[in-house]
Amino acid sequence: MNVLVWLKRDLRLADHPALTLAAGMGRALPVYVVEPEYWQLPDTSARQWEVTAEALADLREALAAVGMPLVLRVGPAVEVLARLCRQHDITTIVSHEETGNLWTFARDRQVGAWARGAGIVWHEVPQSGVVRRLGNRDGWQARRDAFTAEAVLPAPAMVPVPGVERGQIPTARALRLAEDRCPHRQRGGRTEALLLLDSFLTQRGEPYRSAMSAPLAAERACSRLSPHLALGSLSGREAVQATTARAAERPGGRWGGALSSFQSRLAWRDHFMQKLEDQPDIELRCLSRAAEALRPREADATRLAAWATGQTGLPFVDACMRYLQATGWLNFRMRAMLMAVASYHLWLDWRATGHVLARAFTDYEPGIHWPQVQMQSGVTAINTPRIYNPVKQGLEQDPTGAFTRRWLPELAAVPDGFLQEPWKWPGFAKIAGRRYPEPLVDPVAAARAARDAVWELRRREGHRDEAAAIAARHASRAPARSPRRMTARPASAQLALDL
Ligand SMILES: Cc1cc2nc3c(=O)[nH]c(=O)nc-3n(C[C@H](O)[C@H](O)[C@H](O)COP(=O)(O)OP(=O)(O)OC[C@H]3O[C@@H](n4cnc5c(N)ncnc54)[C@H](O)[C@@H]3O)c2cc1C
Repeated sequence: MNVLVWLKRDLRLADHPALTLAAGMGRALPVYVVEPEYWQLPDTSARQWEVTAEALADLREALAAVGMPLVLRVGPAVEVLARLCRQHDITTIVSHEETGNLWTFARDRQVGAWARGAGIVWHEVPQSGVVRRLGNRDGWQARRDAFTAEAVLPAPAMVPVPGVERGQIPTARALRLAEDRCPHRQRGGRTEALLLLDSFLTQRGEPYRSAMSAPLAAERACSRLSPHLALGSLSGREAVQATTARAAERPGGRWGGALSSFQSRLAWRDHFMQKLEDQPDIELRCLSRAAEALRPREADATRLAAWATGQTGLPFVDACMRYLQATGWLNFRMRAMLMAVASYHLWLDWRATGHVLARAFTDYEPGIHWPQVQMQSGVTAINTPRIYNPVKQGLEQDPTGAFTRRWLPELAAVPDGFLQEPWKWPGFAKIAGRRYPEPLVDPVAAARAARDAVWELRRREGHRDEAAAIAARHASRAPARSPRRMTARPASAQLALDL
């Protein structure tokens, strides 16, 4: 029997339940479909494609080494799959369950409808702790932990379907993707993923806990595995088990805390992805329906453009955004701050700003991204909104100013004491408006106004009932060791203002 393995966000050979299943059924045909419509969506970008293309090239090499092709086709999934099935006598497709964006959700439905009509059997198998058709969260954590504790699957021995042309990996230009300069982005592919995993667990990770919040230190002390986990060059289970094995060696110093914090984050990954799996429209609608009325649906174009290009006049915000645009990556704390400033201080709708960030991230993972975007925008009803003060964050997370200065060379003349609030420096008039903008808003006043508006909404009738219903559906069981503000909070929780 010939079996088509439809590869998606699972670009590896080892710990690949779909490939393993297909290999046991007959001759295997691993196929990746490049869908031009997907690559024109507002949450996708050329940098994401470049990382994907590198991961595909790496996988192609790994497959070639075991005598297998990686077949690439460009076109709508239904058309491509239908043609390959017809041409190569295929009646069975195997893939992983995908928790992607709304577009891939709809596309999977189309593929399902086509397969049923065409008499093709499509097996979808899990590749992570995310559980399809879960019902409710009771017992979810145990199921997730059981999945990640199962043995990592070895790369399966496979027999290829003969006579299939491989197809080229297209360039971003061939796909007509908008220009997207990202000179310092991470490379994709499993080779790179394994190197990062090893260097994180044996060398870089020791200061993880204390270093993860400051952008300069986090760059090295965080695992940097996110693009690889997002594309599946490394499975979550492989990361969990490598970390468990490393912890069993009992490395000295701060390693114990670092490894356990890292394990928590790998668990959050599944926790958040489960949210999107349970409610695929999180990228479209506020979890709290009442919060739809909070901000104008149309984001102010001038503010949006200033924020997206690092020109808000708030130095630490601009430095973080420019760093992100140039690297495709940013640490968690600073992602949260960028989102919070956009949503609270600049009062922009989270969908528009969420798209900007998604495009900028090489690790865009809808299941983490959209729940985080909503949480950091105060539209979930169940999380305590955290209104970061960008000046305070700059002083605390970049105390020497080295990071801010590197990304904002136009502030070279500003003395250290004024770096995060240059508008207070008597010499600012010389550069204001010409070399660096005046701040778009007064950060303290804007934060207060935002807090009052969110608070006002939460006092309205019906808020408590809505929050209780959302908590029951989404947040009843946050993974162990998650920080307080990431778990469900009662509707009356005090709003945190980070002044
Ligand atoms: C507004 C916003 C948007 C985000 N969008 C994304 C996204 O699109 N893709 C993405 O991978 N992460 C996203 N994150 C979470 C987090 O910032 C990144 O996972 C992390 O910075 C990636 O770097 P790392 O791999 O070095 O992380 P590490 O700290 O080394 O963590 C290891 C892995 O754990 C997972 N993880 C870490 N933090 C979280 C978290 N808070 N929630 C869920 N999983 C987590 C990720 O898979 C990460 O790769 C977002 C956070 C915010 C605030």
